[in-house]
Amino acid sequence: MAIEVERQELPLFEIENRSRWYNPDLPETDPLVAGHRTCAGCGPAIEYRLVLKASQDNSIAVGPTGCMYVANSSYLNTPYAIPWAHTPIASGASFTSGVAAGYEAMIRKGKYKGQYPNIICMAGDGSAADIGLGPVSGMLYRNHDALLVLYDNEQYANTGIQTSPTTPYGGMTTFTPPGPKIPEGKTLWPKEVAHMMAAGHPQAYVATASVGYPIDMMNKTRRGLNHRGAAFIQVYTPCQKGFVYQTPLTIELGRMVVECGMFPLWEYDPETRTYEYWKPDQMRPVVEYLKLQGRFGHLKPEHIAKLQASCNRKWEMIGVEVPGEFREAEHAEYYAGLGEGAIATDTAKEW
Ligand code: SF4
Ligand code: MG
Repeated sequence: MAIEVERQELPLFEIENRSRWYNPDLPETDPLVAGHRTCAGCGPAIEYRLVLKASQDNSIAVGPTGCMYVANSSYLNTPYAIPWAHTPIASGASFTSGVAAGYEAMIRKGKYKGQYPNIICMAGDGSAADIGLGPVSGMLYRNHDALLVLYDNEQYANTGIQTSPTTPYGGMTTFTPPGPKIPEGKTLWPKEVAHMMAAGHPQAYVATASVGYPIDMMNKTRRGLNHRGAAFIQVYTPCQKGFVYQTPLTIELGRMVVECGMFPLWEYDPETRTYEYWKPDQMRPVVEYLKLQGRFGHLKPEHIAKLQASCNRKWEMIGVEVPGEFREAEHAEYYAGLGEGAIATDTAKEW
């Protein structure tokens, strides 16, 4: 007779006063230990550490090719204190499906004694939004009890900063350099990956999160893991090498991208099949976010106006009233009145 699969249930962290970035009671367990080799201030490394802190020690991580594989594992040496496996960039989610199906079968047959582990695949945007998109959809469609975290640094970082489907409009990468013919660099608009996953796999738990709101990200990790079935979280994770910003600003950018409406935080509840959108306490014009990053240093007023228009549409989508000044900023003429230096920083000029 089949043995019942015993699953973990992780309590949520309390968030007081809607503060989503501070909690003195974090677990001491640290499945990503010190000694990794990512750049200082690396957003994906912060995400990886906190997601694994939230999932705790009875966890298994899968890492398709990306910075968190390339920078973190060399011969006989990784910072992972839990079972962790590398896969080719396209097959992280298919490998994860196999791990989940394998544990289910082994526990039911009595060949593995113990609780079902938290099974997490952490894939970059190059993997989860591009080369490995099909297997991610397959994992969610078949509803394996596993979580896929897309650590979104909006480019192929480990191969030298090439554009990916989540690179924002206007973002400079080595494949989208600005020049006389294409002054904005990147002309395409990014894929709405999390919305694709929620719309296409309505039985899955889906959310967006940002390293700028760590406790919110850890709670979403736990909700995704507690959900009996597949879960997907897209996490905004700045990359200082590709975004070209001052290293200590990683968390600040993680808040500003939400406050400017470029990356709304939301959750999709598969039980009620509804979305819950979150409105930050503060709203900022997108130029405040752009001017901290060298990758946007070439943008002209008409490009920034287009980005503000895109953010305004996102505010409307999540049901937030767009301030009059933000509407004015949808037009290039608005920036003429701001004066020299208002849309480009020293970082951007040096770049
Ligand atoms: Fe992190 Fe970017 Fe450095 Fe990769 S290149 S390790 S994503 S900061
Ligand atoms: Mg990437």
